[in-house]
Amino acid sequence: MITETKAIVLRLTETVGGRRMIALLTEDHGKISAGAFSEERNRKKSGLALRPFSLGSYELRKTGENWHINRSEVLNSHYGLGSDVEKYMAACYALELTDKLLPELAKAPELFSLLAQFLDMLEEKSCHCGLLQAAFTLKALQTIGQEPLLGSCTGCGDSSSLIALNPSAGGAWCSACKTSLPNERLIYAPGFDIVGILKFMADQPFARMRRLALDEKALTYIQAYLRAHLSAHLDIGELKSDVGR
Ligand SMILES: [Zn+2]
Repeated sequence: MITETKAIVLRLTETVGGRRMIALLTEDHGKISAGAFSEERNRKKSGLALRPFSLGSYELRKTGENWHINRSEVLNSHYGLGSDVEKYMAACYALELTDKLLPELAKAPELFSLLAQFLDMLEEKSCHCGLLQAAFTLKALQTIGQEPLLGSCTGCGDSSSLIALNPSAGGAWCSACKTSLPNERLIYAPGFDIVGILKFMADQPFARMRRLALDEKALTYIQAYLRAHLSAHLDIGELKSDVGR
């Protein structure tokens, strides 16, 4: 079978004999691992389309269970990300998280669009990398149906006085549950409507996040919650590219 699809390179592994294994998030087939031989005469052009962060158009051949990249063309290398350490690390984080969130061949066209949008937004001149990274994490969880539950308390179902987040319960926690279950480990941010902020981020389109102004302290709580949520519900521990901790 031969197919043509857009994809983003998540990972590149060089193996012996000039063969490369590329983890791609494709628009049409989800995450796949594909082999590629780099031909010398096309090396420069195709090499770029095989580098992490690159968005390209790929002609893929499937033989049995194995995928191979026949031909590739760069549409956007996101080259500018390499010149800013913070942006570069945020982009690495997004690729690593995406790779961990998806099993092979799970279709994820929404996550593909989100990741492409995130890489584009990071390249914009003034962007808040930490905020965008947190918003990306939240939106990525939404695309796979693993997002935190924020509309009502995950302890009792009540939708009033949601004052904290409970990572192990998977979302909002109310003041009554906080009192009656004092041993629960909560993310509680005095002075901030932490549930409201996270819900606002969840409800707004991702593009709006570029204009969101968020207190740094509130952002720290949000990031701590998202890390704990990933660990509790998706068994995703420390990501090596997550430098914001
Ligand atoms: Zn409750």
